Amino acid sequence: MGSNIITVPVRLETYKDTLLYILGGKAKITVISNKTNHSFDFKLWKIANLHYKVYVKYAIYPKPTKKNPNPVPKFRGKCIGYIKGTKWFPRPDDTFQKAKVAWRWVWYALMRHTMPHKCCIYHHSTCRKCGLPIKAMKSMVAGIGPCCSAAERAKEGK
Ligand SMILES: [Zn+2]
Repeated sequence: MGSNIITVPVRLETYKDTLLYILGGKAKITVISNKTNHSFDFKLWKIANLHYKVYVKYAIYPKPTKKNPNPVPKFRGKCIGYIKGTKWFPRPDDTFQKAKVAWRWVWYALMRHTMPHKCCIYHHSTCRKCGLPIKAMKSMVAGIGPCCSAAERAKEGK
């Protein structure tokens, strides 16, 4: 968040690709409802093995002034909960309820090995491991940059 680099949204088609992307460690995804067109931007941050922090992106609209009658909204990230193993633990406060509901819905669909229907999920052509933008089409689709991909293959001994 707070980066000015424009990235291309890439649709995630299968639960496997989506999970792989989400669990990479520095994933940014957008979930758009097919019905309402309402969208949420989530970011996942790996804390430890099978332990992730989930953030939602939200906009702050500065008050217009005479000098700046049309201020640009500022974007912030707010932690809405944690993933531990297969379970989702929303933060027990009253904020960002819609985002928490949307995330819960997406997460448990993936845990049932299905894509959540009624919505589309996109990643932002940033590497799921290091969070840097990726440009090559092949890497974009895979959601991982060439360096991180090579490192992953080396680790798996392929
Ligand atoms: Zn990378």
